[in-house]
This record gives sequence, C-alpha cells and structure tokens, in this order.
Amino acid sequence: MTLTATTDLEVAELLRAEEEFQASTLRLIPSENYVSPAVLAASGSVLQNKYSEGYPGRRYYEGNQIVDRVERLAAERATRLFGVDHANVQPYSGSPANLAIYLAFAEPGDTILGMGLPMGGHLTHGWDVSATGRWFRGIRYGVGQDGRIDLDQVRDLALAERPKIIFCGGTAIPRTIDFAAFGEIARECGALLAADISHIAGLVVGGVHPSPVGHAPVIMTTTHKTLRGPRGAMLLCDADRAKAIDRAVFPGLQGGPHDHTTAAIAVALGEAARPEFADYARAVVDNAKALADRLLELGYDLVSGGTDTHLILIDLTTTGIGGKPAAKALDRAGIVANYNTVPFDTRKPFDPSGVRIGTPAVTTRGLGTADMITIADWIDRVIRTGDEERVRGEVAELMAAHPAPGLPA
Ligand SMILES: *Cc1c(COP(=O)(O)O)cnc(C)c1O
Repeated sequence: MTLTATTDLEVAELLRAEEEFQASTLRLIPSENYVSPAVLAASGSVLQNKYSEGYPGRRYYEGNQIVDRVERLAAERATRLFGVDHANVQPYSGSPANLAIYLAFAEPGDTILGMGLPMGGHLTHGWDVSATGRWFRGIRYGVGQDGRIDLDQVRDLALAERPKIIFCGGTAIPRTIDFAAFGEIARECGALLAADISHIAGLVVGGVHPSPVGHAPVIMTTTHKTLRGPRGAMLLCDADRAKAIDRAVFPGLQGGPHDHTTAAIAVALGEAARPEFADYARAVVDNAKALADRLLELGYDLVSGGTDTHLILIDLTTTGIGGKPAAKALDRAGIVANYNTVPFDTRKPFDPSGVRIGTPAVTTRGLGTADMITIADWIDRVIRTGDEERVRGEVAELMAAHPAPGLPA
C-alpha cells in the first residue's frame, strides 16, 4: 500500500513534493544516491514490525526464524563481496558504527589519530564537538599544500603520539586513499587501523578504488552512499576481532537491529555483486574526471588539482565568492551541492571557500561524460554570471529525460 491522500494527506503531499523535487533537480551531493525500487521495497516491508535483539541463533525474542535468515543472508553477501571474515550488518548508521569501533578497541581518554574535519575527515574520527573528540584524545592529520593526505605527517604523529586507533577515510577526499601506507604506519606504531570507506564502498566493490582488506583489520562503511543501499552501516573485520565488534554493537551500543534495513542491505549487496555494478562504479569515476577536467578548463581551482574518485572539491578562494552563496545559487538553479571547507581555508567554517560535488547520483540516472561538460558549464554560468533561472529550466529538461530509479517518471 502506498501513502495516499486518504491515509495521511499532509505527509502524502510532502512525499509527493519531495519526489517531484528529486525528479527535477540535479543532485551533486557526493554522499547521496538513488536506491533501486527493490531496496525501497525491502526497507518499506513488514520487517518494520519486528524486534530481534541479539544475533542470528542467539536472540532475546522469539519469532525471529525468518529474520535470522535475512540477517545471515546480508552478512554472507557482505563477507563475500568485500572478501572479509566477518560482517556485522546491524549498525543504525555510520556514526554509531564508528562509535562501536571505539567501544571495542579503546578506553575513554585514549589517543585516536584521525583526519581533521576541515581537511576532509569525519566528525566521528575524534573531532572536538563529537563524542569521539570529547571522550577520547583526538589527534589530527591533514593534507599537504598539494591537497593530498600528508603521509609523512601521519607517520610522525603516529610514532610521537602512539594512538590506540588510526582512522583513515573521510568525507571530502578526492584522491585514492593509500591503505597499504596507512597499514604500514599502524603496524609500526602498534595502532589498530580502522578504514572508514563510507564514501567509496561502491568504488571499492566496483574495483575502481583499492580495497582496505589486508591493510585495515576493521572496516566501516555506510550502506547508503556509493554502495547505493538503504541508510545504514556495516562493520567488516577479520575473525580475531569479530567477537569484540559484535559485542560493541549489541549490547554495547544498540538495542534491536532495524531488520527492514538489514533486508534492504541484503538487496543492495546483491545488486552490487552484479557485473553491471562494476560498470556503474567505473562510470562514476569517469564522470567525475570529465566534470573536473571541464571545471579546470573553465579556470576553477580544484583541491588536489582533480579527482581519482566520485568527489570534487571546488576551491573558490581566488574567485572571491564564498562557498555558501555559491551553493545557494546552485540550489536555486536546481543543482544540489554543499558548501564545504577547503584545506587551509581563509574563510570561516560556517562560510567556507569550497563547494563539494560528486557524481554517484547523476551516474545512477544514466548521465555520461558529455553531460558532465554541460553540468560544469551550468555551474560556471550560475556562479559567475548568476544565470540561475535559465539554468533551472535546462536542468529540469535534462533530468526529465533521465528518470531516477524509484521515482515516478
Ligand atoms: C557519512 C559518513 C559517516 C557517518 O555516517 P552517518 O550515517 O551520517 O552517521 C562516517 N564516516 C564517513 C567517512 C562518512 O562519509
């Protein structure tokens, strides 16, 4: 059954409006995507009606015969797809999944090394305002003047500070992450390396970004970004750490898992195991490179000078235009992006110099490299000449020709 005017007029109207908004706009938020109708169906299924604290075969509730099979299936698909010993598919989302890593392998007050938030890291890698920065001693590494992760700095900090855990991965990293180098540093200083591949999990599965497996004994990923699943997360690890991870997720941090999400994760992992998904991942990166190349031609500065991944960080410092007014102008033109700090930002964090864009969602809608030229030109027209209204019309026209999965055409 779908939500209609007779069941709840107010919410039905809001959902209809959101569908129309998503259908007609161009989404360049690098952490967003469109899930398939099958993923949508699983997450809107009768598994909403369950409680299943515990793990398959070891539940605190009766009536989980089928739920056990759903969770085992999701975990099996995850271990096979990523090539790991163990997968915990219960974390509610990426932030609580990272918290489980702390709970499993560190004590409050321990030193944690992570990428600084303004450099492209995530809040949960020990940043001040996060619980992880308040309850642990967060030390931060960043990028060099070339915009690439400064591995010498990572090594120096690791050897000087002897962190319990080193996090690699982040939210605004346009370049390939050298998991092997991080693994070596972690071994040298006796830290646990946790790879947070939330942004790039789909690229890893699709074979267009190296895998952290073999370098990071613990891996966290959200399931809703390039992996194109429901909102949720997974923890992947070697056999030695399976028990500690499971205990940290439940009963350490969470109660009942969201079984509807588990089913949807299973569906998404099934989709990601198909050969077409590797084509998708390749197209995401090809599109990002085409978009970056055109922006460079148009005279824009990009952090690190380009991209190896799905993500581009435009540095507007030399244009004198703030990232926030630029992102708001793009939004009015139907191009959804977000303002972001750039490394060594000269502006304030709430009004930074960068705009962060990415290609996972537009690639899911079937746009190709020729369309990326068009998109770069639109971005330029909006930012430099304020041509919002005409661009809005052209965006709507292109998007109408490329319906998204799960949205009414
Ligand atoms: C998105 C993200 C998270 C957090 O995920 P939520 O589901 O938003 O809590 C953690 N780490 C990285 C690197 C991310 O990109």
